[in-house]
Amino acid sequence: MKNEKHLRNWLTEMNLDHPLVIAGPCSAETEEQVLEIAHQLKDSDATVMRAGIWKPRTRPGNFEGVGAIGLKWLKRAKEETGLMIATEVANKTHVDLALEADVDVLWIGARSTVSPFIVQEIADALKGTNKIVLVKNPVNPDLALWLGGVERLYNANIKNLGVIHRGFSTYEKIKYRNNPEWQIAIDLQNQFPDLPLLVDPSHIGGDRNLVFDICQTALNLNYDGMIVETHHTPDKAWSDAAQQITPDFLKQMTIDLRIRNKEG
Ligand code: PEP
Ligand code: MN
Repeated sequence: MKNEKHLRNWLTEMNLDHPLVIAGPCSAETEEQVLEIAHQLKDSDATVMRAGIWKPRTRPGNFEGVGAIGLKWLKRAKEETGLMIATEVANKTHVDLALEADVDVLWIGARSTVSPFIVQEIADALKGTNKIVLVKNPVNPDLALWLGGVERLYNANIKNLGVIHRGFSTYEKIKYRNNPEWQIAIDLQNQFPDLPLLVDPSHIGGDRNLVFDICQTALNLNYDGMIVETHHTPDKAWSDAAQQITPDFLKQMTIDLRIRNKEG
């Protein structure tokens, strides 16, 4: 990635006067849920709404996502609120369906970034797209694997790229669900200062009480934004209930983080 300077352009072109905020539920559950959250996010600092529709659960038997029908709900949320929409893609079929539904931001999940086969399949399916593509770090603390994922996309002529730091698996008993190991993301930022870097405090923390402090640490390290799991009734969420915050909490949090609020 020699001329990586233009990698930041998509973010500059958004013309935000604050770090990028992507917010929305871990999973799309029903059309009503997606629309309710979208409308509650409309007057927040969020520019993009996230929702997973294909959910790669670590073990089978849990809710695995609503599938392609969720794209219709996201599209409606976009039409009704003007928010951009984002979802996770993990294979060529997902990419084809997401592009057809005009999803604005596609992200590659931590369990996909570990596999060069999967990343290459996604890169080939996305070849030349001007959609924004964000690469989560792999579940294991391996900077080369993370960068390799970005490079596979870059080599497929996908130039609107960014990365998401969501922490790393550990067998140790620590307060985080996924160990942040901040130095890995700092090393990535040092190598590619023009690659937008977002924090995912929800999957790092695994606990909504940790979300604020993780965002604060990331902003102190000059991160470009955050992707925060946000649900109107977090305790009733079908996945990742403990770590989701409400849209109201998000609005207060961006004020407390001194990110300008649209209403403020
Ligand atoms: C998610 O964003 O809901 C998700 C499954 O994330 P990760 O790939 O970071 O585990
Ligand atoms: Mn989640």
